[in-house]
Amino acid sequence: MKPYKNKINRIRSFALGLIFFGFIIMYGAIFFKDNGILVTIFVTLGLLSILASTAVYGWIGLLSTKAVPVVCPNCGKHTKVLGRVDMCMYCKEPLTLDPNLEGKEFDEALNKKR
Ligand SMILES: [Zn+2]
Repeated sequence: MKPYKNKINRIRSFALGLIFFGFIIMYGAIFFKDNGILVTIFVTLGLLSILASTAVYGWIGLLSTKAVPVVCPNCGKHTKVLGRVDMCMYCKEPLTLDPNLEGKEFDEALNKKR
């Protein structure tokens, strides 16, 4: 089985990755401090990636308002479901909002409209 993750968590780790990427790139600029053009390019790229992650974080906030808060039947914690099928943020229990899909095997393809 593929390692599915809760969608909101996945986007969040992506945004976090962008921040790290941005800082690493800007840190890399130190090694080119003799070359002003390279430093400018690296710092710009780093800033862009941090800006992008800020945008992604804003997007998560937007998605969170659309996600449906549910109580996970498996672990009893409050989690959010995005789309027709999603996973619990804590125990990775597959959750669905569509009664027709109840009991079916978890498949991310079910999110696509047919
Ligand atoms: Zn759970």
